[in-house]
Amino acid sequence: MEGEKGKTRRLGGIYSGLAASEASNMHDIWNPWHGCVKCSEGCRHCYMYFLDRQRERNGADIYKTRAGFTYPLQKKRGGGYKIQSGEMIRVCMTSDFFLEEADEWRPDAWEMMRQRSDVKFFLLTKRPQRVKDCLPPDWGDGWENIAFNVTCENQRRADERIPLLLELPFKHKGVMCAPFLGPVSIEPYLASGQIEQVVCGGENYDGARPCHFDWVTALRAECAAHNVTFCFIETGSVFVKDGKRYDLPNKQIQSEMAYKSGMYYAGRPVVWKLTDRFGLAIPEEALYRPHFRQNCARCGSKPICNGCSDCGRCDK
Ligand code: SF4
Repeated sequence: MEGEKGKTRRLGGIYSGLAASEASNMHDIWNPWHGCVKCSEGCRHCYMYFLDRQRERNGADIYKTRAGFTYPLQKKRGGGYKIQSGEMIRVCMTSDFFLEEADEWRPDAWEMMRQRSDVKFFLLTKRPQRVKDCLPPDWGDGWENIAFNVTCENQRRADERIPLLLELPFKHKGVMCAPFLGPVSIEPYLASGQIEQVVCGGENYDGARPCHFDWVTALRAECAAHNVTFCFIETGSVFVKDGKRYDLPNKQIQSEMAYKSGMYYAGRPVVWKLTDRFGLAIPEEALYRPHFRQNCARCGSKPICNGCSDCGRCDK
């Protein structure tokens, strides 16, 4: 499972520090449903459960969102879509898109993604074993606007989920090592040439487990050897470097530390074939171009961020 206006937006639900209710309002997040069932080690300190507790709710209550469900098709007063052509939207950041409890709602969500073939949708799951039975009937070898990612918080989950990722028909594939709970080596999987991007970041909130910088450097080296983009987005609240432990509750500082570590690696470019509603290619100049603010320059997530939505929160 798993964005910030300035510093808040960048985290997305993926990584995030936003209240779940807030996250659903961010311009780069679409939460068609909310709530989840914990299923692996990375779920132990799930940020969604934590934030739901803060507002006296239970993250295990799973429901289809009301106003948020149709976000990809919602229009502004002037008539254009709220989501612009070319934007990257992170889906189900307070749940899992392939959750069994959401089987009834998913066909409608697919249909909206089909209609918005001009928008990139980022899917992330800890349940890749369910995916082949959850694809639309006309999926074929995948839609050009969908990026499929699996969470690999440790080696066990990498070895369980990445083979499934490689077997599944998706045009864009990626790996998310967050929360990063142990060393993860994915060299043989990178050699397949199918993985376009690897993201990693440490854990936050109650009882966060440490993230070791050695794990980050080792994973980056594998990605660089295969020319795959690697992004270290945040240290997590307990970071170990050169045998020394750092307690970093402030997510902005975590992100700046990740940026300062110089771990970002720009691999081979990812080519998106986005089309309009007539199936025609959209010229580059007609696509959304993210813009950033001054304080975004030191953010570990900037390379993979959808850009500032000008909510004004960071001006306050
Ligand atoms: S899959 Fe994601 S949203 Fe669901 S419980 Fe695990 S960490 Fe939380």
